[in-house]
Amino acid sequence: MLIIMKRGASEKNIEDVKGFIERKGFNAHISKGEIQTVIGAVGEKVIDPRDIELLEGVSEVIKITTNYKLASRIFQEKDTIIEVNGVKFGGGNVGTIAGPCSVESFEQMDETAKQLSKVGVKILRGGAFKPRTSPYSFQGLGEDGLKILRKVADKYKMAVVSEIMEISQIPLFEKYVDIFQVGARNMQNFNLLKELGFIRKPVLIKRGLAATFEELLMAAEYILSGGNSQVMLCERGIRTFEKVTRNTLDLSAIPVIQKVSHLPILVDPSHGTGLRDKVAPMSRAALAAGCDGLIIEVHNKPECALCDGAQSLYPQQFSQLYKELKKIAPIINKKII
Ligand code: PEP
Ligand code: MN
Repeated sequence: MLIIMKRGASEKNIEDVKGFIERKGFNAHISKGEIQTVIGAVGEKVIDPRDIELLEGVSEVIKITTNYKLASRIFQEKDTIIEVNGVKFGGGNVGTIAGPCSVESFEQMDETAKQLSKVGVKILRGGAFKPRTSPYSFQGLGEDGLKILRKVADKYKMAVVSEIMEISQIPLFEKYVDIFQVGARNMQNFNLLKELGFIRKPVLIKRGLAATFEELLMAAEYILSGGNSQVMLCERGIRTFEKVTRNTLDLSAIPVIQKVSHLPILVDPSHGTGLRDKVAPMSRAALAAGCDGLIIEVHNKPECALCDGAQSLYPQQFSQLYKELKKIAPIINKKII
């Protein structure tokens, strides 16, 4: 249920409504717009909307029929803008994240980050705990990987994003990471999502291999309902009958999500295609379609990568792509940082 406050409703009016619905067993989420304040009442309890309408300062009470509420544009009309290390995602800003699939060594991260920071990238990616299909594949360096990621990022004044796999890793990630990534395979790890609702760092949640948009938004809702409002979504391709590409990158995610949700939607063309030569065209297409950010795999020596080398760009290729993206952005009224 959404409670739309009157223009000019006082702080006291807002606090009174919040107190009222909390006493009735709901969680209150407040969204302060430039003109009006909206209070989201989330909970299972039944309440007569007229009891709320009668409170001072209340303009209207709306029942939301979508399953996701806090993620919806009805709750918050304006785009959520997430800022990390001076890079913004959403609200006309396109943020860029780049780096290898996995942290493999200090030298690999240092060389890759050096090249990326020269180009202007300010957020470095790198997995330390890898969700691999085979138990015999490289599983990541674990905490040592996070340490390397942090050390290198600090050296080049970059922020870091890395994938978290389970609840027990949260304290470790709090120490090293600026953005928590929830991978496609964990998109419906509801216990993990619930816990990530209690942290106060941005969460980048990737669309599951077979997840609908609504399921992705419901996953975001888990995090939002815990009180963490910094959620970014990511389209990374879904599984279809096509075999040429690793996944089918569903760029319709961008306009579909942006219509119904205020959350930034990023695109990962690396996992979306699985092939290096397809990454630049699909990045340009994602930007042209209006994405709020891109996460791209780049490795200093892709042919030696322990994971996802075939879809990783050479730093030089990334640099060329970044120049192209900077040319496209102003045409569609976007700012790329
Ligand atoms: C990754 O970003 O390296 C990764 C494993 O992505 P996804 O969860 O989209 O497969
Ligand atoms: Mn990868």
